[in-house]
Amino acid sequence: MDCIFCKIADGEIPSTKVYEDDEVLAFLDLSPVSPVHILIIPKEHIQSAYQVDCSNADIVAKIFCVAAKLAKEQGICESGYRIVTNVGKSGGQTVNHLHFHLIGGRDFSWPPG
Ligand code: AMP
Ligand code: ZN
Repeated sequence: MDCIFCKIADGEIPSTKVYEDDEVLAFLDLSPVSPVHILIIPKEHIQSAYQVDCSNADIVAKIFCVAAKLAKEQGICESGYRIVTNVGKSGGQTVNHLHFHLIGGRDFSWPPG
């Protein structure tokens, strides 16, 4: 499948990994929007959050466990941070493999633009 994040998960495309296990990979975003910007993905190809259902939802809980661990390691658990997943065109999704942005190290506004 021609999916850049599957290729990163397979090691075909290099990335700066910050966490890896059998099911989950976390790596630095190439174009960071904040001092901490990590992408956390399931190794299994799931297109977006809209394709999460009762058959594959366990991986999302695991990703949130990894996010909390990384937030602590990155020193942003006290200051606060944001976990974002974009879905589809209007949601701003540009890579069609489920991923969670873990962003922190500065203040964010709400609502988003
Ligand atoms: P989204 O717009 O929510 O689909 O997010 C896709 C993210 O992937 C963007 O923040 C990109 O900067 C990031 N990205 C795209 N290609 C790579 C890559 N090869 N390595 C790391 N991050 C990437
Ligand atoms: Zn994929």
